[in-house]
Amino acid sequence: MQLQPTASHFIGGEYVEDTNGTPIEIVYPATGEVIGTVYAATPEIIERALESAKAAQKVWAAMSGRDRGRILTRAAAMIMERNHELSVLETYDTGKPYQETIAVDATSGADALEYFGGLAASLTGEHIPLGDDWVYTVREPLGVCVGIGAWNYPTQIACWKGAPALACGNAMVFKPSETTPMCALKVAEILHEAGVPAGVYNVVQGMGEVGGALVNDPRVDKVSLTGSVPTGKKVYAAAASHLKHVTMELGGKSPLIIFDDADVENAVGGAILANFYSSGQVCSNGTRVFVQKDIKEKFLKRLAERLGDAVIGDPLDEATSFGPMASARQMDIVLGYMAKGKEEGARLVCGGGRIERPGFYLEPTVFADVTDDMTIAREEIFGPVMSVLDFDTEEEVIARANATEFGLSAGVFTSDLSRGHRVIGKLEAGSCFINSYNDAPVEAPFGGVKNSGVGRENSKEAINHYSQVKSVYVRMGDVEAPF
Ligand code: NAD
Repeated sequence: MQLQPTASHFIGGEYVEDTNGTPIEIVYPATGEVIGTVYAATPEIIERALESAKAAQKVWAAMSGRDRGRILTRAAAMIMERNHELSVLETYDTGKPYQETIAVDATSGADALEYFGGLAASLTGEHIPLGDDWVYTVREPLGVCVGIGAWNYPTQIACWKGAPALACGNAMVFKPSETTPMCALKVAEILHEAGVPAGVYNVVQGMGEVGGALVNDPRVDKVSLTGSVPTGKKVYAAAASHLKHVTMELGGKSPLIIFDDADVENAVGGAILANFYSSGQVCSNGTRVFVQKDIKEKFLKRLAERLGDAVIGDPLDEATSFGPMASARQMDIVLGYMAKGKEEGARLVCGGGRIERPGFYLEPTVFADVTDDMTIAREEIFGPVMSVLDFDTEEEVIARANATEFGLSAGVFTSDLSRGHRVIGKLEAGSCFINSYNDAPVEAPFGGVKNSGVGRENSKEAINHYSQVKSVYVRMGDVEAPF
């Protein structure tokens, strides 16, 4: 399989290269080997992408929603046909095990294209009768949208932003994370093969600087970022200075609350999904696991046993269920948090360090007896580190769960359904789970409150963030003016 991309950028329906940009090495996280190079967008490349998007958007918006939707649906089918190839690429880009990528990455991208493709024909306005007169509304695209991605789900993020944007008649310039530049190029290629007109979906590479240039360009009408809170604040401020629309999908430190009446096996399964999928590099992870005191030791014992069943190894081997971190940098950040956990007195139940093999592998790590003031309980780690905290009462755990700047997700495990709904009702989070964790179907809105974000991705909600409403007053009789 050829890993080196055909060229760094995809603009105006074709691959475009400009080696004058800063080189960005593509590193395979499972070995640390350089498997390709792309070049950051130069000002000329950014100009070309924006001009191309600006021109193509008018053509795309003039098509019927049904025709746009048919193309997106075709792209979804093509992604599913190429799922194997795209999943292998996702594994090379991120290091995530093929066992995961074949199940959730390209497939969830296809889900988004199919879902928003299906909605495209139904994006209508309304008729508001006012006696003889009336108002009608029209749902219009915003124009040129910029998507900026994080490195944990490169295919999914490229599709989750592209699908609703394109369904509404916008054009997109997408900048993947510099850590995972490959997958979005494939998404662009497939969209164009499916019939998206040249220039409607463009990909440019680069670091924060390129993202900043896009966000500040007056031709851009909307910015959708998936990234960390500090980057989100910068991008939000820059977008606000031009009064651009934004969607911000940022970080989290989400609570997962396990009551003593919960099914322990399911709760352990939920906690594993909430902390170790994608080696813990998931924004919505439930990394503060509050366990009611009576079942704490039973929970920890089963957790340690089940973690022993993790198959750590070559991510391309279908049996592997736990892979490396996406980059050496992220591995070092997480190692720093593991050291902090030990230093600040948390009890190390398992893991706590590197795995001796090439690449950026860390052990699945669990700390118990964690207190609210410890660094590992307050800051987003973005790695395979679970913090287990004890609690006594419902009221206490709700207050402690909400005592954070973040508000992306929250989960509750209990066999008392009234309590499940009552507790979730009081938790300050955007994407919540009862007796489950980390499900993200395209039909459900996804996004955070507080510092975890602004706006929602997926579901019908996303349409409101990629379109605007024009209202038209129609007078049927004569105009009465004072003079
Ligand atoms: P990051 O904030 O470092 O980078 C995100 C993107 O922003 C990258 O493409 C980067 O090049 C770009 N960028 C950086 N500075 C910029 C600037 N000044 N202007 C414009 N663009 C700029 O995040 P990351 O390390 O790539 O990803 C990890 C973070 O993303 C975590 O905090 C995680 O929680 C979050 N995340 C959130 C979601 C979600 O949906 N809520 C999903 C995945 C990841």
